Amino acid sequence: MSTPNFSDLSLFPTFATCPEDPSAHPTKPYYLLGQIKDDMTITKPTLVLSDRESSPFALVFDGLDRDGLDFKRAGLKKGHTAVIPDGRQVPPKEEGKRGFVSVEGARAGEVKGIPGPLEKVLRVALELRVREGEEGRCDVCAAAAEDVKLKKCTGCKGASYCSKECQAAGWSKEGHKEACGIIRAIKEIWPKK
Ligand SMILES: [Zn+2]
Ligand SMILES: [Zn+2]
Repeated sequence: MSTPNFSDLSLFPTFATCPEDPSAHPTKPYYLLGQIKDDMTITKPTLVLSDRESSPFALVFDGLDRDGLDFKRAGLKKGHTAVIPDGRQVPPKEEGKRGFVSVEGARAGEVKGIPGPLEKVLRVALELRVREGEEGRCDVCAAAAEDVKLKKCTGCKGASYCSKECQAAGWSKEGHKEACGIIRAIKEIWPKK
């Protein structure tokens, strides 16, 4: 099984439960997920995101100057989901203000983008995990591998189809077009060991 359990809140904490001291967190590494809302860079590369509870937070890349990170090249585009490993919560300096999440500039390359909104990423990841646990069925008509010859989607290798017709239906009607890129990104970030 390669896909981590996205329902595990110790592995995928919310902004509010991100620790101030990452080394004290029970799970290592852990990943904060956020849907990218805006680029708010003033002095350091800064994104505004929304976590799995739709709570907004800022992500600041420490130790980089304002041009130190090309968000688009890093796959961190508006509407996409950022995966932030070992994000450190910096509490607000004054009461009533919001804290933010900080990542060391040297680890900026470890922050990855998944091409899809967070809600969809969570759904696709859960489906992918379920599918990994059971033996091959067609994604569209559920024909079993023992009865038909299944072919894997060449894009993501995470979806299986019994025929060209089912593959075409999966791509358009069942939304695999978006899921395919999400699955590919998940497999790149968490490769099979
Ligand atoms: Zn089928
Ligand atoms: Zn695919």
